[in-house]
Amino acid sequence: MLDVAIVGGGIIGLSTAWVLLKRGYNVQVFDPDPASQASFAAAGMLAPVSEVVWDQPGLYPLMRRSRELFPDFAAAVAEESGMDVGYLPSETLVCAGDNADRVYLRELIELQSSIGEVTLLSAREARALEPGLGPGVVGAVHIPGDHQVDPRKFCAALLRILDDRVVRAKVVDAKQGAITLDDGTVVTADKVVLANGLAATDFVDLPLRPVHGDVLRLRVPKHAMPLVSRTVRAVVRGRPVYVVPRSDNQIVLGATSREDSLWGVSAEGVHQLLRDAHHIVPGIWECEIEEMTARARPGSPDDIPFIGEVSPGLIVSTGYFRHGILLSAIGAELTADVVCEKPLPTDFAEAVDVFRYGME
Ligand SMILES: Cc1cc2nc3c(=O)[nH]c(=O)nc-3n(C[C@H](O)[C@H](O)[C@H](O)COP(=O)(O)OP(=O)(O)OC[C@H]3O[C@@H](n4cnc5c(N)ncnc54)[C@H](O)[C@@H]3O)c2cc1C
Repeated sequence: MLDVAIVGGGIIGLSTAWVLLKRGYNVQVFDPDPASQASFAAAGMLAPVSEVVWDQPGLYPLMRRSRELFPDFAAAVAEESGMDVGYLPSETLVCAGDNADRVYLRELIELQSSIGEVTLLSAREARALEPGLGPGVVGAVHIPGDHQVDPRKFCAALLRILDDRVVRAKVVDAKQGAITLDDGTVVTADKVVLANGLAATDFVDLPLRPVHGDVLRLRVPKHAMPLVSRTVRAVVRGRPVYVVPRSDNQIVLGATSREDSLWGVSAEGVHQLLRDAHHIVPGIWECEIEEMTARARPGSPDDIPFIGEVSPGLIVSTGYFRHGILLSAIGAELTADVVCEKPLPTDFAEAVDVFRYGME
């Protein structure tokens, strides 16, 4: 019998398994295709400041704390796996695509500065930092503390550490004390953790919805290198877009936010991303498109995950929505605390409460 069976091997299930392993638990993760869903698409921005929007007071402390934990978390996973996890402490610039977008950024800056360091820049100052910015940029906000990790490398490193503790199988039933695999095998465990993203609703009643995101991966040709040297985010006529440079001259360009029924890549989404990114970084048009991906974010009503016990021995950790890479550091710790029957810190307990929308 296992101490803990984790359903789902995205970044949340894998990080939680790693934390539990370090705490001495006998744990296994069950997933037919680990790290293939939202964690596969994600850009990996660790952006508590630039991701801030109004009226999410429960989310800010989680984002801030997870951002603080991330450098050590990434370093420990890199060391234990012997692999590069793609953690880059490169900063972020948020650009305004026109004057109305600049007003929006100016209004947001007060809230952002309650979370981290921000500086308002003129277009000229922004271009001095990033010469690849186009003439359409009318101003920017400089955020030195918003960094990035490569979620694919990070999950690959966790998979190497966890090795044969990851079982490639689909879970068809999960309840207190046992899970059933698609070949009929029943695995017993003292605790069961549902970390299977959106599909957690197959087993428990949670208000999750798919929020689809299209994302492109581009190769920067030698003559255009470096296209940008830090994460460049922008608001273009009210629409968000980001250009995230990886260390290997790949650019991650994203991401749309669609609440439609299309699970594949949206033609409109790709057009919108290329058009808006070109407005901010015209050199984008020199790049080769290597990949177009769409995945769904496990959306919760308030952007905050659900972490806790839904019935004795059955624990959920899902609903990480658009921040699951950033929140994996704190999410894994809090989920492990629930497994260990350790009370969650009061700063976070109410925010992540699994019953906050009243379901049983
Ligand atoms: C386009 C896009 C860009 C994003 N960019 C960022 C970003 O820059 N920064 C950030 O912090 N966040 C970002 N996110 C959000 C982030 O990716 C998610 O919040 C995070 O990946 C959620 O992780 P997860 O492990 O909960 O879910 P997932 O990664 O979706 O993993 C769930 C896993 O469960 C498995 N599973 C499902 N059903 C079963 C079953 N029955 N049995 C066994 N296994 C099962 C699946 O195979 C999958 O591997 C982005 C998301 C998208 C879509």
